[in-house]
Amino acid sequence: MKFMLTEKTMKNELLALTLLLVAVSLTARAQAAGALRVVATVPDLVDITNRIGGGLVKVDGLAKGAEDIHQVVMRPSFVTKLNKADAVVFLGLSVEHAFLPGLLDVAANPKMRQDPATQGCVGTGCIDTSEGLSVLEKPDTLSRAQGELHPQGNPHYNIGPDQGPLLARNIAKGLSRIDPVHAADYKRNLKEYLAELEPKIALWRKWVAPLKGLKAVSFHKDVCYLGRFTGIDFVDTLELKPGVAPTPTHLEALVREMKEQDIKLIVREQQYDPKVCQWLADQTGAKIAVIGTMANAFPGAETFEKISERNLKALLAAVGKEPS
Ligand SMILES: [Zn+2]
Repeated sequence: MKFMLTEKTMKNELLALTLLLVAVSLTARAQAAGALRVVATVPDLVDITNRIGGGLVKVDGLAKGAEDIHQVVMRPSFVTKLNKADAVVFLGLSVEHAFLPGLLDVAANPKMRQDPATQGCVGTGCIDTSEGLSVLEKPDTLSRAQGELHPQGNPHYNIGPDQGPLLARNIAKGLSRIDPVHAADYKRNLKEYLAELEPKIALWRKWVAPLKGLKAVSFHKDVCYLGRFTGIDFVDTLELKPGVAPTPTHLEALVREMKEQDIKLIVREQQYDPKVCQWLADQTGAKIAVIGTMANAFPGAETFEKISERNLKALLAAVGKEPS
């Protein structure tokens, strides 16, 4: 077969070559500009990394806010994102167990690898936001042997409205370590973010005063940091244990317990079964507060600040109170 190089195909080839050269030069320029490519596992961390990184980082998220973090399935897009990343920001304490260890393995990024012994992240790009956290519900033995979903203690600290500063400080520390040239920028952005968030937290502390000492149950055992902030005493869960669905026997015992202790508040994390919560409310006369366990769990609550505020309002509304 003979190829004919017509004037038209030559023009097209020239155009393609020009476009390729433009693309190469744009890529080179973007790399020279040094935008750090960061993957954040949950929307809360996407939000805060954007605040701390400003224009110096490009952040990609993995899990969606309305998902159950324990059930997130690794998607092909996760691999593409992690493979090219300079850093991965994660909550840690094994809460991303459903997708992160496998992803670190498959993405084959030398900056962030799975530690075969701990399944944790090792490498220069790992940013663990749980560093320095005072972990609640720490078990005596660290094991997932019996299907324990929270083997390193309760990992749902991002639901604690007062935990934002810890997340932000750990992200600023991690970005400064990976990109020391811009450490002063990250420090300034952290200061600005905290200047906005800390007065909010102080205000929220006033809001939650009427909740102090109230007894409640939640669906999953993920509210201890929220309980510590609000003063709500979370005495039991609808789940038999973390990750084990409610059984009829357990629910009957829960009805008795709630009646005996006059428990009038059920907290349902939005990803869990509304029907069983409604049944429990009907049996006990308790009110239901629906909360999100990650930013973006609801439309319009895409930031850590917004989801925290929305959750507190939901708790107050369920017991007939308003933010003061
Ligand atoms: Zn959990």
